[in-house]
Amino acid sequence: MIPKHVVDEVRVRADIVSVISATVTLRRRGSSWVGLCPFHNEKTGSFNVIPTKQIYHCFGCGAGGDVFTFLQKTRGVAFIDAVKELAAQTGVVIEERQLSPEETARLNRRKDLYDTCEAAARWFETTLLVGRDGAPGRAYLEKRGVTLDTAKRYRLGFAPEGWNNLENHLRKEGYDLDLLLRAGLIKKQEERQTTYDVFRGRLLFPITDDRARPIAFGGRVLPGADKEAPKYLNSPGTEIYEKSKVLYGLSYARNAVQRKDRLIVVEGYFDAVSLWQAGFEEAVAPCGTALTAQHLEMVRRLTTKVVALFDTDEAGINAALRSLELFLAAGVQAMRLDLPGAKDPDEYVMKNGAAAFEERLTKTEPLLELVIRRVLDRHGASAEGRARAVAELVPTLRKLSGTVRDITIRRAAGWLGVPEDEILREVGRAPQDAPQTPAPARWTPDKDLAHLIWLVVHFPNEVKPIMATVEDPGLVSDRSDVLQAIARCLAGQTLPDVLAWAETDAPDIARVLASAAASPDLYRLEAAAFACRGILAGMELRELDARIRRITREIEHGATTGDKSSYMSRVVESATLNARRVVLQKLLNRKARAEG
Ligand SMILES: [Zn+2]
Repeated sequence: MIPKHVVDEVRVRADIVSVISATVTLRRRGSSWVGLCPFHNEKTGSFNVIPTKQIYHCFGCGAGGDVFTFLQKTRGVAFIDAVKELAAQTGVVIEERQLSPEETARLNRRKDLYDTCEAAARWFETTLLVGRDGAPGRAYLEKRGVTLDTAKRYRLGFAPEGWNNLENHLRKEGYDLDLLLRAGLIKKQEERQTTYDVFRGRLLFPITDDRARPIAFGGRVLPGADKEAPKYLNSPGTEIYEKSKVLYGLSYARNAVQRKDRLIVVEGYFDAVSLWQAGFEEAVAPCGTALTAQHLEMVRRLTTKVVALFDTDEAGINAALRSLELFLAAGVQAMRLDLPGAKDPDEYVMKNGAAAFEERLTKTEPLLELVIRRVLDRHGASAEGRARAVAELVPTLRKLSGTVRDITIRRAAGWLGVPEDEILREVGRAPQDAPQTPAPARWTPDKDLAHLIWLVVHFPNEVKPIMATVEDPGLVSDRSDVLQAIARCLAGQTLPDVLAWAETDAPDIARVLASAAASPDLYRLEAAAFACRGILAGMELRELDARIRRITREIEHGATTGDKSSYMSRVVESATLNARRVVLQKLLNRKARAEG
């Protein structure tokens, strides 16, 4: 673990605006920077970065946090890695505090796996580029038209024939058997009590994580190999590799994807590699699996446009319909790429060149349109056919929500030639088996409390002495977590710290605090103390009025029942409350004049 003062120092030194700018285009607005939220789909910027408070906040979806939270959420890295990365960039030296034995063990286990995969990648790479055993791999690369530069860029490698080449090499370098097994590089032959290399006689594509570290491999057999051998072989899942969360080539493609605002998804490693070689750096491939929701979640942070090949035979259309739901739910538009006369992008670009491929990219069509057209083809364009087509598409449309749903329905209506209202009506008709559960209401403070929280967030030092005079905190809020949040701010905790606490203990308060920090100036510094006094007076006055009403009722009741002693004490109390009321009212009048 990293000591807190070091985390604080990294946070101060890392400029939150420039860190977030790497992902989100920000424009200055007053003391904030504003852009399109990377956490929800929007057309207008509700996403605010507030450098003075070192936080970001989205008024649209409520996402908020500090520079570390941002990296964690957009890149899927752990807190500690986010801190380390920014520490390295800002030149802060980290001396870690003593880890618990379990933490150390876990970290070391992962680190060992990264090291092992890196060592394997290096050996495969060297074998391909210069090794005596690498000749078949080099010949194959040449045959496929992959240049040496490209091979180096992707760190392509070669695993020669033979059962224990990698194992022998890595064991000599000090990696033990258990590690090689856990990294998915070798396997056990239980009956004969032996082990063997997973990759033999294959061209290797290292699969990397978001920091371009090899975590797994994909291997292609060479032509002329055993017919039984699968054409492609991938590493099994390990502690550091989950195939549903990794896209081959994404660590290299990230910048190009953002720059061109599109991602090309291809099926094979060779497709991604030869597109890169042809100048299309924004190409990635899933690692031997269909696209998952997690993939699209990663993609959506970079772009909302995905270009992919979808088969147009019946089976292909059914597969496309399934992936369409994923795309629609993720708010990512899927565009279908058609490559006539080629079985894959690799073949197309090798045969026709980059310009022809670029030309194809201008002729993509939305997958939704393709699916709708196929459904229409099946049912016919008559009024009845259209109605049946709508009925078939409704279950898909129902899975969407918000603006994504509105836009999709509008498009679908256009392509189907059916009024938008008609589709909306069908989609809105709640299916019998899926009861709609309303989202839990968001907690929002009333105006006084919202203003008080704003003051506490912006001018803690000015309002602290006044808040210290509050005798009954129940007047401020009946929620202990709200009071706790206020107390933390007044005690001098930084907003990121208070948010980090609230994030786990009181998420809706985290949202309210971040929203206050991102809100425009309500009061000037000089007016803060006075405003705070006024708000507290207003809160007390409301409570006082309620008590006075209650006592007045009791006095009236006492007068009729003739209970003298309690009657007199009520009258005295009422007089005291009314005197206090006059004081408060005067203060509020002064405040109203000052603001008026
Ligand atoms: Zn948002």
